[in-house]
Amino acid sequence: MPQTSPFPYSDDNKRYHTLHYHNRRVFGGRVYKAVLDAGMTCPNLDGTCGTGGCAFCDGGSGAFTRPLPLHEQLTLEAQRIRRRDPHARIIAYFQVHTNTYAPVQTLSALYEEALAFPGVVGLSVGTRPDCLPEDVLALLSALSRRTQLTVELGLQTVHDSTAQDFGRGYPYAVFAGSFARLRALGIRTCVHLINGLPGETMEDMLETARTVGDLHPQAVKLSLLHILEGTRYADAFREGRIPPHDAGGVY
Ligand code: SF4
Repeated sequence: MPQTSPFPYSDDNKRYHTLHYHNRRVFGGRVYKAVLDAGMTCPNLDGTCGTGGCAFCDGGSGAFTRPLPLHEQLTLEAQRIRRRDPHARIIAYFQVHTNTYAPVQTLSALYEEALAFPGVVGLSVGTRPDCLPEDVLALLSALSRRTQLTVELGLQTVHDSTAQDFGRGYPYAVFAGSFARLRALGIRTCVHLINGLPGETMEDMLETARTVGDLHPQAVKLSLLHILEGTRYADAFREGRIPPHDAGGVY
């Protein structure tokens, strides 16, 4: 493929190693995510470590899914994706809530059903680092030897004081331990971060970026804070407790 970008790991003039670049080299073409709701809940919602969830959480993008059997969800997502690209390869993305928070036999059946769906070339599993017991890690390790598996961890920040404020429900040390286990097992990881969390300064965000960069995850998903209707942050924003950044916010 001719190199058209001045940057070594991007085909479209990005300064960073893009997912698009990675997918083209690994799969030979464009890859799309099928967003799935496997009917999981979250220990930060069911009372195991909390009931209110993270202050920005509306259920893990459940707005984009419907509570249908997995095969029907995959069928609808494949139709949506193939309207854009008839030859698309698909990653089955278990996104809603915590997708390792079930007995390992249940998880195995769900992941296998997704992998068997026509056009699915890999799995992404969104979860929390405190929901990766050894039997689940063994399952993920076996899967990662057969397919491209990415475990997506919602860290958001390395700062425990911020995490306590938004109610993450685990300290950074728990993330560090699970991340090390995933790396030792050779499992691909994507760390989710949020810039603009209330109370964080520019230096706080840079420290998160440096700390996570030093861990060398295979991918990072960087979001700017979105305040969604129905979340605790929406209430705080309306009450003026979260100043917009362009109107005298924290940075
Ligand atoms: S861990 Fe994820 S699903 Fe659970 S409350 Fe936080 S954002 Fe929501």
